[in-house]
Amino acid sequence: MEIFPSIWGISLDLWHAEHEGPEGLRRRQNGRFAALLAHARGASRFYRRLYQHLPADGVKLHDLPVVTKPELMEAFDDWVTDPRITRADVERFTEDPSLIAKPYRDDYFVCMSSGTTGIPGLFIYDPDAINMYRAIAFARIEHTWLGASDWLHMAQRGFRWAGVFGTGAHYVGAGWIELERQRDAFRAGAFRVFSVQQPLNELVADLNSFDPAMLTGYPSALELLADEQIAGRLELRPALLECGGETLSQESAERITSAFGCALRNIYSASECLTMAFSCDQNWLHVNSDWVILEPVNEDHRPTAPGEPSHTVLLTNLANRVQPIIRYDLGDSVLVRPDRCPCGSPLPGIRVAGRNDDILRLLGVDGNILKVLPLAIGTVIEETPGIHRSQLIQTGPDTIRLRLDIKDGADSETVWKEATERLKAYLVTQRLANVALLRASEPPEQSARFGKFRQVLVDPMIAGQR
Ligand SMILES: [Zn+2]
Repeated sequence: MEIFPSIWGISLDLWHAEHEGPEGLRRRQNGRFAALLAHARGASRFYRRLYQHLPADGVKLHDLPVVTKPELMEAFDDWVTDPRITRADVERFTEDPSLIAKPYRDDYFVCMSSGTTGIPGLFIYDPDAINMYRAIAFARIEHTWLGASDWLHMAQRGFRWAGVFGTGAHYVGAGWIELERQRDAFRAGAFRVFSVQQPLNELVADLNSFDPAMLTGYPSALELLADEQIAGRLELRPALLECGGETLSQESAERITSAFGCALRNIYSASECLTMAFSCDQNWLHVNSDWVILEPVNEDHRPTAPGEPSHTVLLTNLANRVQPIIRYDLGDSVLVRPDRCPCGSPLPGIRVAGRNDDILRLLGVDGNILKVLPLAIGTVIEETPGIHRSQLIQTGPDTIRLRLDIKDGADSETVWKEATERLKAYLVTQRLANVALLRASEPPEQSARFGKFRQVLVDPMIAGQR
């Protein structure tokens, strides 16, 4: 098997793969796919069962059935390839926030997500996957993004890296920065996570005193911070801005770039696979195709032609063995560039549309319109125990309607009470104590317009009036 023992080994291979071009990338992808498939059939009871009708040899990627998050989560104990791991055990681990980024069963990293389907996912990275993500970040992505003068600028700011993310639970963004901080005791002070849930004035003050070289966050969080930078309350001089986790519109990108006066780069990532693709200066996302397979497909899971937006995209993660992800439905719409990108990268270029949650604009106590980030307010609800799925809809200038889907076995009244109290407390910190919270009798609904689940949205009836 061609998994390298160290970050340096992988980094060297990443360089060779790009240097060899499409043929070298394809060869690595094919070899790693064959090894992953053999491992999954041998060590995962779930995949052995799923693939039992297929021949022992000569199976191609497109022969394999598509898998979904609910299906994998349901079969969790059969899906994982380390028999010591069970869903109940991982759930116990993730219930304790003091264990964020701490090694699970000696050498695994654990994170959770709600993702676009609203159904919670639990993901485990093995040491080879962790090394792959690190090698790609340092040897490929930052090498592509940063020139000599940028490195000098980074050095002047002590290579300090600030991440603005949802905190308080095992989410991948904050967890990953925490992992890097714990790994490097010598430079631990150079990594810091800032909570997107804290009041904006406190976030601004904390960021000013940290003075980061690199700032990472959701596009909507960076947009909010761009407004603070323009207003002069935030005074950062970063060498690089990095975003991910939500779709970045051209309009937001321009606003953020001009506010901070440095490049804004984009990462296409998920809890299921970090760093699937990264942006180039031509605004295309380049897929790390030697370690990740992304298949844009239509509703029948047939490949879509280059240049056409897909219905969804199937992910195969070639590095992670403990929890094999093979033809996994990610739910995003992806368009593949038909030709080679003018930036010169041999990696396939894509654009992604997805994660269509809205920013809420609510009328505050003092009569001002205040913005609330979907990932921030969504996180507040998700942290309530006993919730299977939730949905928040802004139905008026100062009204929010909450829809809940309660887990089997949980007491409905207790869950409603706690979710409502948490939301109210959060709104108070955002100077939105006046906002009315309505309890919906109907469950969360799939969006007819986007065809996928949206956790936070503005009622289309009022969206047009804003
Ligand atoms: Zn490019």
